[in-house]
Amino acid sequence: MKHYISYTIRVAVLLSATFWAVSHAETNEITGKPEAGIITHYLVDASGSFSLSEAINLPTYGWHTIANGNVSFGYDDRTYWFKMDIEASDSERLLHVAYPLLDQLDIYFVAAGQTLAYYELGDTLHFNTRPIAHEDFVVPIPPHHSLTTYFRVHTSSAMNMPVKIWPTNAFHASQALVQLGFGIYFGVLICMVLYNLFGFAVIRESSVFSYSIYVIFVGLMAAGLTGVGFRYIWPGNIWLQDHALVLFGCLSFGFAALFIAQLLKIKQHSALFARGLWVMGGLAFIIAIISVFLEYKVAIKLLLIFAIFSCSFLVILAISMWRKGSVYARIFAVAWAAFIGAIFLNSLAYLGVIDPHFMQRYAIMIGSGIEVLLLSWVLTLRYSDERLQKLVAQEEALRRSAEAQEAQRQLNEELEQRVDERTFELEMALRELQEVNNELERKNSEDGLTGLFNRRHFDHQLTVEFRRAWRNKQPVALIMLDIDYFKPINDTHGHMIGDQILVALAERLKQTVRRPSDGIFRYGGEEFALLLGNTNEHEASQVASMISRAISETPFITDAGPLSITVSIGVSIAEHNLFEVPEQLLKAADDALYAAKERGRNQFVIAQHFIEPATPDND
Ligand code: GH3
Ligand code: MG
Ligand code: MG
Repeated sequence: MKHYISYTIRVAVLLSATFWAVSHAETNEITGKPEAGIITHYLVDASGSFSLSEAINLPTYGWHTIANGNVSFGYDDRTYWFKMDIEASDSERLLHVAYPLLDQLDIYFVAAGQTLAYYELGDTLHFNTRPIAHEDFVVPIPPHHSLTTYFRVHTSSAMNMPVKIWPTNAFHASQALVQLGFGIYFGVLICMVLYNLFGFAVIRESSVFSYSIYVIFVGLMAAGLTGVGFRYIWPGNIWLQDHALVLFGCLSFGFAALFIAQLLKIKQHSALFARGLWVMGGLAFIIAIISVFLEYKVAIKLLLIFAIFSCSFLVILAISMWRKGSVYARIFAVAWAAFIGAIFLNSLAYLGVIDPHFMQRYAIMIGSGIEVLLLSWVLTLRYSDERLQKLVAQEEALRRSAEAQEAQRQLNEELEQRVDERTFELEMALRELQEVNNELERKNSEDGLTGLFNRRHFDHQLTVEFRRAWRNKQPVALIMLDIDYFKPINDTHGHMIGDQILVALAERLKQTVRRPSDGIFRYGGEEFALLLGNTNEHEASQVASMISRAISETPFITDAGPLSITVSIGVSIAEHNLFEVPEQLLKAADDALYAAKERGRNQFVIAQHFIEPATPDND
């Protein structure tokens, strides 16, 4: 709040100082002062047909006196005649009508009934026809005579006749500063337009563009108002000079509506104000178009009425937006207040409350200058704020996305870790399961007492070895053995001792048969079986003999002391595809065993050819 008030004050001081200097130039002590020309009489020529001589010779009752010399009649399209006396002087002087909008202005200098000089002026004539190039109307005063000056005026603008009489040198000197003031004002406007158009080219912000166009039309309107336009921009264009003020005024209002809507983002705040601005802008453009076809006096009235409503509406809008707390609205309100203040002062000037001519000319320029600068400031402020917000939002978005990525990464990591853990656990469980399975399998195929493979496993292995032998065309030997007279041992010493012998016998079999491919099984009770892969009849009989001896030669140590036993052995060999199924091999071995028992035990029998037992006794 504080900073834009101080900014406003600075801008106001700068512009006011400039225009003070300009206005002061008109009363500069060093170069001489202008005198106010006192218009003493006026005459209304309703038909507009009087000639100079008719006007001069009109009886005095036709002429009305003017009390204070101040002619400010408002809008009146009748023809007026004015009369003013000028004292004789030998120095060069100029007559200055400081109101540039008069349509037709004829000036007659009359001395002793003779017209010494006649000038046809007004902005319905080409600018170049003016005797002295100036925005206002300036003509040289014939020297050496007491003069009566007659003005014939017809205008559709307000009927104002601010007249000054200048020493020629002083006038020209003062113009330098006036032109400087104009230069500064229009310079500021041109800078703003160019700066913002460049800005628009870069940032593509529509409000910056509409602001530029708005400033262009404010400038053109001021150019029309001050006569600068007619002098420098459209000197030959009478039509435009006639329409400039209304046309550019309307377009200023139109683009102001557009710009304000964009600047304050009215749509977001209030649908009502947004609609109001639409209506205001639309009307402005419609009046602008209509004004082209209307007479100036009608068009200017239309514009003024429209301006009163528009300004009131904008004041309400500015206050309302201010109360909503928008910083931009506050600066906008101050800016608009400057402009409206200027219009207000201008109106007071029209009413004659304050010095009309200075205010009329410069108040609007000061006001609009302040406004244009402040609005540009709002625009820059808003752009910078929005950029900052965008940057902050971008950073926030970046930060969020980085966070999300990091979270995703952590999640993935955790997931992977958990999967690894689970996989490991699963593997462990599987391994354990496998071990348990193996153990179960082993237990399933193991004989509880002796630790040898059991009958179940024997049946399986018999088939496996039989097929392998068949496939490989190799012999496989099956040795079946049964303890002789085991029942009496059990009966004598008890089953415990019998078991001890069974365990010891198993151990002795293991020590005797050492080839890893050989399988030793407890077939059942006190019967055992041995499967010897790739073993022919000769080798098998050697093994049988070794077993027989190993058992019979060394007594078994038991809790009941050393006990001697013998075994009967049946051997069969599956060779040259002798058997078709494993059961035949088993049957052959069993038969051989039975034969061994029959023959008196403690011996081995080879299936089919019953070999004599290679017992140690028989050796
Ligand atoms: P042979 O074979 O010479 O004809 O006479 P044997 O006394 O061994 O006769 P048989 O085969 O009929 O008897 C087998 C005996 O083996 C019966 C049982 O007392 C004994 N036996 C069988 N299984 C076990 C066992 O697991 N533990 C013990 N201690 N004895 C068993
Ligand atoms: Mg038996
Ligand atoms: Mg037995």
